[in-house]
Amino acid sequence: MANPADSDTIASTAAPSDESKPQVAEIKSWADKVEEEGQEVTKEASSSIAADIDYLTIDETKKVNNFLDEPDDSNIQAVTSGDTPYTSAKTFEELNLSPELLKGLYVEMKFQKPSKIQAVSLPMILTPPYKDLIAQAHNGSGKTTCFVLGMLSRVDPKQQAPQALCICPTRELAIQNIEVLRKMGKYTGISSECAVPMDSRDTLSISKRAPIMAQVVIGTPGTIKKLMSLKKLGVSRLKILVFDEADQMLAEDGFRDDSLRIMKEIQKLSLNCQVLLFSATFNETVKNFVSRTVKEDHNKLFVKKEELSLDAVKQYKVNCPDELSKLEVIKDYIFELGENVGQTIVFVRTRESARMLHKTLVAMGYEVTAIQGALDHGERDKIIKEFKDGLTQVLISTDVLARGFDQQQVNLVINYDLPVQYTPHRTHEPEPDCEVYLHRVGRAGRFGRKGAVFNLICGERDKKIMEEIEAHFDTQVTEVRELNEEEFKGALKAAGLL
Ligand code: ADP
Ligand code: MG
Repeated sequence: MANPADSDTIASTAAPSDESKPQVAEIKSWADKVEEEGQEVTKEASSSIAADIDYLTIDETKKVNNFLDEPDDSNIQAVTSGDTPYTSAKTFEELNLSPELLKGLYVEMKFQKPSKIQAVSLPMILTPPYKDLIAQAHNGSGKTTCFVLGMLSRVDPKQQAPQALCICPTRELAIQNIEVLRKMGKYTGISSECAVPMDSRDTLSISKRAPIMAQVVIGTPGTIKKLMSLKKLGVSRLKILVFDEADQMLAEDGFRDDSLRIMKEIQKLSLNCQVLLFSATFNETVKNFVSRTVKEDHNKLFVKKEELSLDAVKQYKVNCPDELSKLEVIKDYIFELGENVGQTIVFVRTRESARMLHKTLVAMGYEVTAIQGALDHGERDKIIKEFKDGLTQVLISTDVLARGFDQQQVNLVINYDLPVQYTPHRTHEPEPDCEVYLHRVGRAGRFGRKGAVFNLICGERDKKIMEEIEAHFDTQVTEVRELNEEEFKGALKAAGLL
């Protein structure tokens, strides 16, 4: 098997179609790349809240950490450039954050101290001369806070113009990140706007809208590109540019062209703009490439490949003799037992598969929702909101949510279909997409919480793919031997969930 860490491909943005219907149009289907075309931009949605910084109270009673361990980022390696000394911060106070931001961290976010990646990266981000940074850290280890604090700290509140820009691969992630920024920045009065495609009936066309005044802009590449080319998003005052899920944003089969065009334009107009690249995965090819896209004297934080472990989340494989048994596993065990455990995401490979599974389960009377890129934007947003609000327990998803999606209550991930790399002509045996596997598993076990993943294996092909995934991560995935309640209960217990 090709080791994705050495190959030319990275976490594919593809949701390959059913074997029976080779559809090239599906290639980028889970991200916003295709979907953004011809879409209009968002309504003005800035947040600006007056500061009240008198009380820095921590309400510990509100911290609900059922299954919390320290997030495992013990082995982040720093490669710093030049002789700027950085000391890692043990407390948020040591980072010289404004009192408004500290209040946001303690009162709104209810954080107590920085995670490892925050402790190490924030001094690099916030210390002049504000060098570029490429940072890798585990899923769920708190990378968002690193770049959100970076953006909020660098903005001059007195200047009403875009000063910080963050680009994400999906609308869901852009919306999630802006929500974190608004919460964390609640007391700063800094304005923000989310630039993602909206359903056209709700919005003005980009060419007719007013120029963006918001100080922080977070969005997806197609919309950002359009706003820039129509001169609605001025970038000459930008101080900081962030790519979340940066390996995907800069991968050839991801958003490389858009990202590079945006970056070049910004670097031309705003010479000293600091660039931050964050992801849990950077394969060698992408790593080499990204090192050349940022300024030469950048800082780097990397986790050794073999230490990108999946330990927090217990992995299982379940042999299902046929497709019907896969369905039965979902309804007899996941629905029955999952409820006591938390929320569940069921990953499928194609939009069609998402539709089919959803329809079947709903017809059987189960409450479940499904998200995939072909839905209306409004519909996508609604489904996510219901899931985030805890109104739905089980969410079926294509890989649109494989990366970045953060919902602490998600303790179970089901790989209804194993992740495979997209191959246009299907002349070869499908190969596993190990990076997508890592990202999917990372939707459970956020910030050191416990979690479990069940891989449903149906047929020889799945068996082989699973073996290749195990070999890649050098782990033995435990088999659920019998399809009965006791076995599944035992598995959840062993994962620390029951
Ligand atoms: P990732 O590294 O995968 O981007 P996120 O930034 O989404 O991870 O953070 C994962 C979860 O951890 C979020 O729910 C976030 O609120 C929480 N978190 C991040 N930093 C801290 C912290 N210092 N203390 C407590 N919880 C934190
Ligand atoms: Mg993230």
